[in-house]
Amino acid sequence: MAIVNIMEGIVEEKIEKLIEETDYCKCEDCKHDMMAFALNMLQPRYVNSRKGELFGRIDSTKYQNSVDIEIAVSKAIETVGKSPKHD
Ligand SMILES: [Zn+2]
Repeated sequence: MAIVNIMEGIVEEKIEKLIEETDYCKCEDCKHDMMAFALNMLQPRYVNSRKGELFGRIDSTKYQNSVDIEIAVSKAIETVGKSPKHD
């Protein structure tokens, strides 16, 4: 059994897309920091991955356009991007 938070995939996808429009660092470390930051602001949405294949996708489309996610991701990119943990 594997429990998956479908928010992780949605947030990751949005960060990958939005970060390209910025001049911020695009290394794995920063992206992971941004993911953690955004996910901490959002309500997790867990699915059982065996059914998750199917239900996850339905939920994803429902949440993908959520304004909350948009705000969390933008804030994460800005906050981490402005002060990355490395030099
Ligand atoms: Zn970086």
